[in-house]
This record gives sequence, C-alpha cells and structure tokens, in this order.
Amino acid sequence: MKMNTSLMVNKAIKDKLNRPVRDLRISLTDRCNFRCTYCMPAEIYGERYEFLPHEKLLTFEEISRVTQLLVNMGVQKVRLTGGEPLVRRDIDVLIKLITGIKGISDLAMTTNGYLLPKMAHTLKDAGLHRLTVSLDTLDDSIFRKMNGRDFGVKSVLDGINEAVRAGFAPIKINSVVQKGVNDHTITELAQYFLTKGHIVRFIEYMDVGTLNNWDMKHVVPADEIISKINETIPIELIEPLYPGEVARRYRPTNGNGEIGIIASVTQPFCGACTRLRLSPEGKLYTCLFGTKGTDLRTPLRNGASDSEIIAIISNTWKTRDDRYSETRNTNSVKSNLKKVEMYHIGG
Ligand code: SAM
Ligand code: SF4
Ligand code: SF4
Repeated sequence: MKMNTSLMVNKAIKDKLNRPVRDLRISLTDRCNFRCTYCMPAEIYGERYEFLPHEKLLTFEEISRVTQLLVNMGVQKVRLTGGEPLVRRDIDVLIKLITGIKGISDLAMTTNGYLLPKMAHTLKDAGLHRLTVSLDTLDDSIFRKMNGRDFGVKSVLDGINEAVRAGFAPIKINSVVQKGVNDHTITELAQYFLTKGHIVRFIEYMDVGTLNNWDMKHVVPADEIISKINETIPIELIEPLYPGEVARRYRPTNGNGEIGIIASVTQPFCGACTRLRLSPEGKLYTCLFGTKGTDLRTPLRNGASDSEIIAIISNTWKTRDDRYSETRNTNSVKSNLKKVEMYHIGG
C-alpha cells in the first residue's frame, strides 16, 4: 500500500483525557442474520427495514487505507465486527489487506458463529488471528428466543467446532447476561467451555442504542455473576494480561482455564479506553455510546490526501472526552440525542 513516510511521525496522539488510540473496531455491515432481542429487535428490523445500500459502505480499499493511517497514529489491534461481519461478501479479501499492514499485532473478529461452518477455514487461510463467538446460553429454547430467528444452539456450536478444526484456539465466547432471561444458565455455559479450553466472557447488559428498552433492573452486576459461578466452580481473580484490559480475568482455583467478566455498567473502565470505531458507512465514533460520527467517506471519495485524512482523524481523537459509562449514573439530564445502535457500530 502506498504511504508517504513523512506522515508516519504522527504517533501517539492523545485525547483530552490523555488516552492514546490503540484499538480500531471496524463494523463491516449493518446487516445481520440474527435478530437478538437486545440488539436488533425483529419487530423493528423486519422485511421492510432499509439497510445501507452497498455503495454507501466503505470499500475494502477504503477500509484498509484508513486502517493503515490509523496504524501510523498508534493503532495496534484491529477487530472486525458488525452487524454480522460474515454476511459481508469476500471478507477474506479484506483480511488479507489488513494483515498486510505492518504494525498490527492482533486482528480479531466478533461473530455470532452461524456462518463459521462454511467460513472458518477461509478466515484462517486469509490470516485472521483470533475469533470471538457470541453465545448467550446453552439452553436451546432460551437461545432460540434470544436470537430472534429461532436458530438452535447447535448451529453456533457447529461453528465453534469448525473454527477449532481450522486452527482457532482458544476461542473467546461472548455471553450477554440479562436478568430473568439467561442468568440462571451462566454456570452451565462457564463449565462447558472450561472443559473445551475456551474462554467465556460474561458481559453486563448495556444501554447501547435506543431500541432495547434497557433498564438497570435487567442488568446482572458482575459481582452477582461471580458469586453465582463461585457456588459451583470456585474461581479467583488473576492479573490482567495488559494494562487497560476490558475483561477482568478469573481462573478456577482447582483447575485450568479462564472466565472473563466485562463489567461495563457496574465497574466502568473509560479511563483506559483506547478504542476508536469505524462504522460501515465510514463514520468515526470515539465511544460505543456516541451520538454523532465524523464522516470519512466523503473526503475519502473526494480525493483527500493522506495528510488531510490524518488531520480529520487526529482532530476527532484529540477533541475526545468520552466517558459515558463512568457518568451513566450521575447524568441527571438525559440527552435527547440518539445514540448509535450496537448492530451498527459493533461491540
Ligand atoms: N454479530 C456479531 C456478534 O453478535 O458476535 C458481532 C456484532 S455484536 C453487536 C458484538 C457483541 O455485542 C456481541 O457479543 C453481542 O452479544 C454484544 N452486544 C450486543 N448488544 C449488547 C448489549 N446491549 N449489551 C451488551 N452486549 C451487547
Ligand atoms: Fe446480530 Fe450480533 Fe446484534 Fe445479535 S448481537 S443481532 S448477532 S449484530
Ligand atoms: Fe470507552 Fe465510551 Fe465505553 Fe467509556 S463508555 S469504555 S469511553 S466506549
């Protein structure tokens, strides 16, 4: 890829709270083959819902150009997400472009796993480093309701097994915990994946977007999740792998393996948040709870130079002061601005 080396000095930009940009999350599409009730409720995202037309999506070349520029500004880790990233055609082409960028230490993907039986080997061959598969419960009837499409647990487990055969291991399993929905099944999920050698990460249900009727009473706090697991599998807290790691890590006291907890609601971690998000249509969001993105697609398509694109990204990051999760409970006045939806910007 062509890159003016004089532009490579732009490292270590910091936001207003002195946080560097380290992680890039790329949402590849706003489409998904699931309709998880907490993310894309089927009654809203029905047959007639108009998703972004293909010409509005950033092309793979545009995505890899932005990624290259961001790597020169300090990004080291990239995650592909969505919507469902595996519904974007020819994704292996993009993976190859991104793995060709020097300076990326980690390229991961978050997927619902449904298309992995077909795609796992292609992803591995293209050079994807790691996979996170979302699975909220092993209870078939609960899972069928939660994904809104009546897909059974087996469809995801088949995907995970195929990913293991392709060489992805260990795999991280994301599980969103909702009170009264799947919280009585967390120990079973933890136990199952411990024996398989994978890492389950329980995620507190978040108030992302505006459509899931979120309420604090639907959240199972991390401490409660830990106590529940502890009743059957004694676990202890272990050191983070690196400063600012999102999940708190636990291991069984009498065995191997790992379980993670992402306590974005009850124990927020904004102070160490180095994540920048790129939406399918090319907007930059500096927070998962953002209301307004910075348009990159227009300048990209109007022939902006690398330094012009860098200036836009740099201004966006330098003016960032997001700490939504830390202020969630103290905000007395609710903003009327519409937050970006999770399926649009990715987890
Ligand atoms: N479709 C892919 C998947 O489900 O893995 C990738 C995109 S999805 C938006 C990314 C992650 O966000 C998933 O693990 C999903 O469970 C999680 N997620 C979605 N809505 C959430 C919410 N309201 N609170 C917490 N996690 C959520
Ligand atoms: Fe689709 Fe993932 Fe959202 Fe579920 S969580 S609806 S799989 S984007
Ligand atoms: Fe980062 Fe925003 Fe989440 Fe805080 S709320 S950790 S700033 S994405």
